[in-house]
Amino acid sequence: GHPQHIAVQLFPYSKGRRLMLTRDVTAIELAEAMRRDFVANVSHEIRSPLTVISGFIETLQTLELSAEERAHFLALMQQQAQRMQNLVSDLLLLSRLEGSPPPDESECVAVADWVSEALTQAQALSNVLHGGSQTLSVVAGPPRLVVGARSELLSALGNLLSNAVRYAGAQGHIDVGWQERADGGLEVWVRDDGPGIAPEHLPRLTERFYRVDRSRSRESGGTGLGLAIVKHVIQRHGGELLIDSVVGQGSTFRLTLPPARIRPAASAEPSVPL
Ligand code: ADP
Repeated sequence: GHPQHIAVQLFPYSKGRRLMLTRDVTAIELAEAMRRDFVANVSHEIRSPLTVISGFIETLQTLELSAEERAHFLALMQQQAQRMQNLVSDLLLLSRLEGSPPPDESECVAVADWVSEALTQAQALSNVLHGGSQTLSVVAGPPRLVVGARSELLSALGNLLSNAVRYAGAQGHIDVGWQERADGGLEVWVRDDGPGIAPEHLPRLTERFYRVDRSRSRESGGTGLGLAIVKHVIQRHGGELLIDSVVGQGSTFRLTLPPARIRPAASAEPSVPL
């Protein structure tokens, strides 16, 4: 895809002779372009809620408003401030994920607890956004322990579920479940009967700030970083994020975990030395 860029340096080393050093800087330039893009995106994401907030502050300062109108504007400002808070916490989480080694064996979580905790959060979000009209359910698989960072795993599954809640619509059905994989690993999946995602978007979905529908994502409180976080977390655990989607039918997001990260649930009980 990208044109090769070669840096050339010439060093005179004896009369009339020069040494030519060449270096392929394509990768460096690409990384630099990505960094610039990222900074531009973050700036834009911060500027839009700030613009809204400043506008409302001016309104509150200049107009005589009823208590009801004031409350309305304050609520909108609060919403925009929350948006910036979400953005900052997602950015911090991403940078922590990038800068730290893969989770060791010191922590584990029962998959049933992991799923039910994420589901409780998603149900709360669903109630706020859709007033209880969505259906969320669990399709439990075999009891297993996952060796990994609890908080990371929770935020990965939480992001998939909150996407399902946000995109599936008020009458949406969302299922979350897990099952053993043929290789002895585990997969945890989230399925919705929402709008689905066209195939041309799928390869780019986990890029930072990539959105199929900008306004829809923002309206529902999306930072544009959710799937980037999910992908990072699962890759750090040696697994993958797989996405299947059919426009008009819905989407399934799968988190796979390798056998090395899975234990039978019975090993949760501390072993007593004889
Ligand atoms: P966002 O904060 O925008 O939701 P994500 O990284 O979580 O960011 O998701 C990227 C994009 O993928 C979303 O903007 C949306 O267009 C699409 N998407 C994610 N999950 C779903 C889903 N369950 N159904 C339809 N589209 C989805």
